[in-house]
Amino acid sequence: MSDRVQAPRGTFDVLPQDEPARAALEREARRTLGGAGYQRLETPIFEATELFARGVGEATDIVRKEMYTFDDGGGRSVTLRPEGTAPVCRAYVEHGMHKLAQPVKLWYLGPFFRREAPQKGRYREFFQVGAEALGSDEPAVDAELIVLLADLLQTLQVRARLRISSLGTPETRAQYREALIAYLRAHERELGTDVRERIDLNPLRAFDSTHPGTRAVMELAPRLFDALDDADREHFDAVTAMLDDAGVEWKLDTTLVRGLDYYTRTVFEFESPDLGAQSGVGGGGRYDRLVEQLGGPPTPACGWAAGIERMLLSAEPVEERAQVDLFVAYAKPQYAREALRLATVVRRGGLHAEVELAGRSLKGQLKQADRVGARYVALLGDEGTQLKDMHSGEQHAIDPGAVADAVRRERPVA
Ligand code: AMP
Repeated sequence: MSDRVQAPRGTFDVLPQDEPARAALEREARRTLGGAGYQRLETPIFEATELFARGVGEATDIVRKEMYTFDDGGGRSVTLRPEGTAPVCRAYVEHGMHKLAQPVKLWYLGPFFRREAPQKGRYREFFQVGAEALGSDEPAVDAELIVLLADLLQTLQVRARLRISSLGTPETRAQYREALIAYLRAHERELGTDVRERIDLNPLRAFDSTHPGTRAVMELAPRLFDALDDADREHFDAVTAMLDDAGVEWKLDTTLVRGLDYYTRTVFEFESPDLGAQSGVGGGGRYDRLVEQLGGPPTPACGWAAGIERMLLSAEPVEERAQVDLFVAYAKPQYAREALRLATVVRRGGLHAEVELAGRSLKGQLKQADRVGARYVALLGDEGTQLKDMHSGEQHAIDPGAVADAVRRERPVA
């Protein structure tokens, strides 16, 4: 035997036993978001690299070192999507959605890719569910989106705390950035190397540092929140008032910086105390300039993304198994063909049926029927067909054409 081929580091298989919980999560997302008028949009797994360079920001960790970028063979640079907001904005512009009634409310669920150091809850291919509302700057948009994520997390029984802040406008941010750079320069020697080297490139990231010296410096650093203009402050107050109305608890965190450049005004994050180091379950914010930055018309917008694996790690486990109505067994190999024919008829009648596929002994087949949880077994043999009730153990002769109806009669209403 040659060496075993393994899945790449930081990736995972979704095994059959993991699938019911994922399917349940997707169902809940569809129910919660669909119920609020959000429609599903799926964008390609790879996009032009420029979309993320321009959208997410050249100075961000994601663009600088985490993207899977390659030549598509025709001299064009493409990238496996590291996030969903820039692609949604691209699709919004490309399909002229700005001509529809605004806001356009969309949701998505699929795989994303970042070359991060793998650990529990952090993978190189992971899944996100996201929601975006484009075309309105009303605070109700931010509040609605946050409430929907809070409700989704609650339905999935994910415990999570909400931190929220505002980043204001790019102009306020530019002024604040200068003030922060000056402050960091004044404390340069106390900072970690990583932060020191990137003071000019991305000073806001200093708030995310785990370096003790940097953390101490950042405790007293000037806060963007204190520099917000009146309109941004009003927007923030309106959003949080609506969260109060909905009974969603929140906490102002003026150190909240998200790893993407496109945010304006509202930013928020849900964190779960059950998750350890990778505690972020979902987050997002407003990105009023992004659509324009990608070549579209000026379009205020807001959205979030939540990690499926992190939600599942902190959610209540889901036990779910499709009910098997019938297992078709046979006493001799020459009945294999008739067995498959019977299973097919029963399946086409809308029932769940399995058939022996491994040439087991009759005893082995009954064991298998038991293992898959079959309610009935149809047994084909020299004496015709028998139908065995696996609950009572009762067995009687039956015409093969009557099996489906007999099983259906006993089927509990779903
Ligand atoms: P972000 O786009 O970075 O705001 O991420 C949104 C959410 O996606 C996070 O709160 C996580 O739940 C999830 N997420 C982000 N990166 C990863 C990763 N590398 N592995 C697993 N989940 C992730």
